[in-house]
Amino acid sequence: MKNVKAYGAKSAESKLDNLIIKRHEPDSGDVEIEILYCGVCHSDIHTVRNEWGGSTVYPVVPGHEIVGKVTRIGNKVSKFKVGETVGVGCFVDSCGNCDNCKNGYEQYCLEGVTATYNSLTRDGKEITKGGYSTHIVVREDFVLHVSDKLPLHAVAPLLCAGITTYSPLRHWGVKKGHKLAVVGLGGLGHMAVKLGASMGAEVTMLSRSPEKQKDADDLGAHHFELTSNPENMKKMAGSFDFIIDTVSAKHDYNDYLQLLKTNGVMIVLGVPPEPSNVHAFNLIFGRKSIAGSLVGGIAETQEMLDYCAKHNIVSDVEVIDIDYINDAYERTIKGDVHYRFVIDMASLKK
Ligand code: NAP
Ligand code: ZN
Repeated sequence: MKNVKAYGAKSAESKLDNLIIKRHEPDSGDVEIEILYCGVCHSDIHTVRNEWGGSTVYPVVPGHEIVGKVTRIGNKVSKFKVGETVGVGCFVDSCGNCDNCKNGYEQYCLEGVTATYNSLTRDGKEITKGGYSTHIVVREDFVLHVSDKLPLHAVAPLLCAGITTYSPLRHWGVKKGHKLAVVGLGGLGHMAVKLGASMGAEVTMLSRSPEKQKDADDLGAHHFELTSNPENMKKMAGSFDFIIDTVSAKHDYNDYLQLLKTNGVMIVLGVPPEPSNVHAFNLIFGRKSIAGSLVGGIAETQEMLDYCAKHNIVSDVEVIDIDYINDAYERTIKGDVHYRFVIDMASLKK
């Protein structure tokens, strides 16, 4: 066991602050990583503030958009070398035996995936602690190769915001000829715009924030519409093949289902603390579907990282020191994020 510096919260009400946590020595199949950057996902905030049905175990150390360098490897590690640049995303283990794990859907492991933080380890002995820390030790099967071609601070958010939007775009085969709407221009939303546009879709940004219009254009959106204007919403009825909903707070799914074409699919990615009701009429008139998607499997995450390296796609980020994290949370909740906060972990080592 080794003591490492981390940042986390001791209760739902407390601010994040310095903590010392233990990381185990790398086992034969493990990779020890010195964390260079970690993105700040809205899921970190939901978890720290215990907004998802009381599931948080304290102290919690969030962070699942990790990039860093390999510092040590176990003697059976074959895919990574010391000094290599690597990434870790939203989960660090799964059973490996169920149909979903065998088919590359580790995130849907039938025995329950082990999330990067706030999850019971598979031996049942510890609660996982995430990337707001100087080091992490992860089984090599859950570590990703990261290209040195791209700026690492801007790659970190690909490990969650990137794969969470890439996976449904691929699953539903979004491509040229499709009209795609993205709801909510934050961390996930801005990656959905970039990736959707790169796959050839005609992308409309649906936002409640008029000041984000120019940024949406720069990110590659073809249109920008305000959701706060009922006339606008009416005008768009029946317009889209797909809607990707990334909103983190309670909102009415029915408003968006009406914007789908016949056979259209609304893919829910955001996880507001409170549920939304769906009226059956909004599905049966036009044979519409509402679906969800959780991050992506390991092979698909590697595919996404390689796709982004090839197409020069990274996240738009604001790099912060760790002691700004509580302010960053407040700004994220207000929607004042352009478009992902990323912690420079050197600030934790000081
Ligand atoms: P984020 O950066 O905070 O972005 C959320 C965006 O939603 C905001 O920028 C804002 O965009 C919009 N929004 C926020 N509050 C709103 C409100 N009250 N009414 C209407 N719109 C509102 O969050 P994120 O990191 O992208 O995460 C988004 C959600 O996805 C979170 O719930 C997170 O937990 C979840 N998530 C899910 C997965 C998955 O696997 N499915 C993975 C990661 C995260 P505008 O200002 O443009 O309206
Ligand atoms: Zn996330």
